[in-house]
Amino acid sequence: MALSGLQIFKLLAKTNCKECGFPTCMAFAMQLAAGKAELDQCPYVTDEAKAALGEAAAPPVRKVTVGAGDMAVTVGEETVLYRHEKRFEHMPGLGVLITDEMDDATVDGLLDQLKQIEFNYVGVNLRPRVAAIKAADAGKLAALVAKADEKAGAAIIIMNDDAAALKSAAEPIKDKKPLLYAATEANFDAVAAVAKELNVPFAIKADTLEALAELGQKALDGDFKEVVLDPASSSLGDVLLDQTLIRRAAVKKTFRALGFPTIGFPSNMTDDKMLEAVYASVFVAKYAGFVILSDLDPARVLPLLYLSQNIYTDPQRPMQMDQGVYPINDPGPDSPILVTTNFSLTYFTVSSEVEASKVPAWLCIMDVEGQSVLTAWAAGKFVADAIAPFLKKSGIEEKAPHKKIIIPGYVAQISGELDEELGEGWEVQVGVREAADIPKFLRQWSAN
Ligand code: SF4
Repeated sequence: MALSGLQIFKLLAKTNCKECGFPTCMAFAMQLAAGKAELDQCPYVTDEAKAALGEAAAPPVRKVTVGAGDMAVTVGEETVLYRHEKRFEHMPGLGVLITDEMDDATVDGLLDQLKQIEFNYVGVNLRPRVAAIKAADAGKLAALVAKADEKAGAAIIIMNDDAAALKSAAEPIKDKKPLLYAATEANFDAVAAVAKELNVPFAIKADTLEALAELGQKALDGDFKEVVLDPASSSLGDVLLDQTLIRRAAVKKTFRALGFPTIGFPSNMTDDKMLEAVYASVFVAKYAGFVILSDLDPARVLPLLYLSQNIYTDPQRPMQMDQGVYPINDPGPDSPILVTTNFSLTYFTVSSEVEASKVPAWLCIMDVEGQSVLTAWAAGKFVADAIAPFLKKSGIEEKAPHKKIIIPGYVAQISGELDEELGEGWEVQVGVREAADIPKFLRQWSAN
């Protein structure tokens, strides 16, 4: 059972030294109990307290990392059932199933796609990262795993029922933390022994949640922390039910035996590609840690990545850009100067329209804690006496000495006041309200 804030507080140093970033030991204890702080933030936790607190402070869904470097996928560490309660922590790792039944050209094509599919959405790099490699023959399995590692650097899931086959394929890349798939009732001890020897995570698989929980308990008894659950759901209803019950048991009941991230294989559930995408979207929406597809058609992969990004965005923290002056289309001293807020969506909408206009321009992005133009204006953050000092300190004067500033049309009412705040030599111009009108506006501005 998780400890309460008060129980945790009793085990702390109680000096209120603030080194953990919280004003008091009690505040830290409350945040720790809520899963919003890490135990190692307090440097004064004794070994005895660590032993008592370590398990209690572990998130209800354990963290698991598969792969290394840019392609590493970290899942789990989740603490809530609904995103609005706090946030979801780690986007699921999206990947593709590669088997020894595929010809070389297909395998190479999938690995190329795995390496190449990547897109940036509101400042977040989105891409599939996982290759799930399945082969009955141990030699073929090892060869495919080596190829996937070499060609795509992917986070690798190695699929075979035989512990010896898993070991021979995983050993050469053990430092890259492949996931062994899967330990079942029949082979649990052998697969777990390989996972322990190579220090890599492993998946457990069972047809019922009761059987899965029994295997989860065995993993806990063996002191395994990096485990992934496969409830082997075979229908859309099962996916919803299994994923929800697992998350609910972990988060609401602190049921450690099911307190691990999950994996789903929409690739195995249907031959209909669109239906597979629907199943995958349910896995993404309902808690799965890894989602494995039968191919990487961008028409289905990109919406799934976009869906993940949306669900896993922290609802309490607006996505924001760094404050600064962003050059677009290689601007010079005579180029127009636009100013707007650092809400990511605002930045990307405006910058992409400026880019599309082909007019070189300076885009001054002001930090208003990630709020949009009107929200920031209403909150008193995107107003004349805040914008003027920002512009003067931004260095835009040196870059574009004409000092003509274009403000968003939605805050036309601040133009006079901003003129006064900026003082002599500056000129405030009112731009358009809709981003789609920016290209026409900039072309006219440049022609005058
Ligand atoms: S660092 Fe530790 S001792 Fe200091 S206030 Fe935080 S919890 Fe208390």
